[in-house]
Amino acid sequence: MVLSCQDVRKTFGANVVLDGLTLDVGEHEVVALIGASGSGKSTLLRCVNLLAEIDDGTIRLDGEDITDPRINPDAVRQKIGLVFQSYNLFPHMTVLDNITLAPVRVHKRPVAEAREQAHEWLKRVGLADKAGAYPDRLSGGQQQRVAIVRALVNNPRLLLLDEVTSALDPELVGEVLTMIRDLKGDGMTMVLATHEMGFARQVADRVAFLDKGKVLEEGPPAQVLGEPVEPRTRQFLARII
Ligand code: ADP
Ligand code: MG
Repeated sequence: MVLSCQDVRKTFGANVVLDGLTLDVGEHEVVALIGASGSGKSTLLRCVNLLAEIDDGTIRLDGEDITDPRINPDAVRQKIGLVFQSYNLFPHMTVLDNITLAPVRVHKRPVAEAREQAHEWLKRVGLADKAGAYPDRLSGGQQQRVAIVRALVNNPRLLLLDEVTSALDPELVGEVLTMIRDLKGDGMTMVLATHEMGFARQVADRVAFLDKGKVLEEGPPAQVLGEPVEPRTRQFLARII
C-alpha cells in the first residue's frame, strides 16, 4: 500500500471530525473521496500531509508510520503533494519561482535541478510559455494547473487533491480534469476530494463515501455511485445529482 490510514481519529475540541477512519490506497490507484460538506474530507487530506495532528490511529506511507513523532514532517511532505481548492500561488513571484520555491528553500534541492524539472512539467501540461509570467496573467484553470505542477515537482509518491475545481468558472474545469486524467495515465497515485460525481466515475478506481468522519461505503464508482448499499450514501447522492 502507498497509503494506509488505520482507525484515524481527529477531534477539534468536542467535535469528532475523523472517527476511526480506515482507508487504503494502492500503487497507481486513484481514490475519490465524496461526502457532505463537513464530513471530514479536507481534514483527512490535511492529516495525511501532516498539516494537522491526529489524536489516535496510524497513517502509513509505503509502510512507514508517518504519525510517529520522531518523523521529519518536511521529508514526508516532500513525498506527498497537496493541492487545495484555492490555488494559493504567490502573486509577486513568477510561475517558475512559485514552483521551485519549496524544493529549493525547504527541501534544499539544487536550483538548476528544480528549475529543469519545473520546465519539464510545464511543457508536459502545455504551459511552457508561462514560466516567466506572474499568476495574475493566467486564467484560473492555468493557475490551478501550475499549483498542481508545484505539487508534482518533488516527484511525490502520492498526490492529494482537495476540491481542485470548485473555485473555477465552469468553462475552466475541463482543462484541470484533463490534467488529472493524464496524471492517472502516467500512473500517479492520487486521493481526490471532489463534488464532481461525473469525474469521480470516470477517473477513480474506487470511490469512498465519508459520513461523520468514517468511510461508510467504498467500492468501484459504478457500484458506490450507481447502486449504493447504504441509505446515507443514497440520500447524499439524491441530494447532489
Ligand atoms: P469537508 O472537507 O468534508 O467539508 P472538513 O474536513 O473541512 O470537511 O471539516 C470537517 C469538520 O471539521 C467541520 O465540522 C469543520 O468545522 C471542522 N474543522 C475543520 N478544520 C477545523 C479547524 N482548524 N478547527 C476547528 N474545526 C475544524
Ligand atoms: Mg473540504
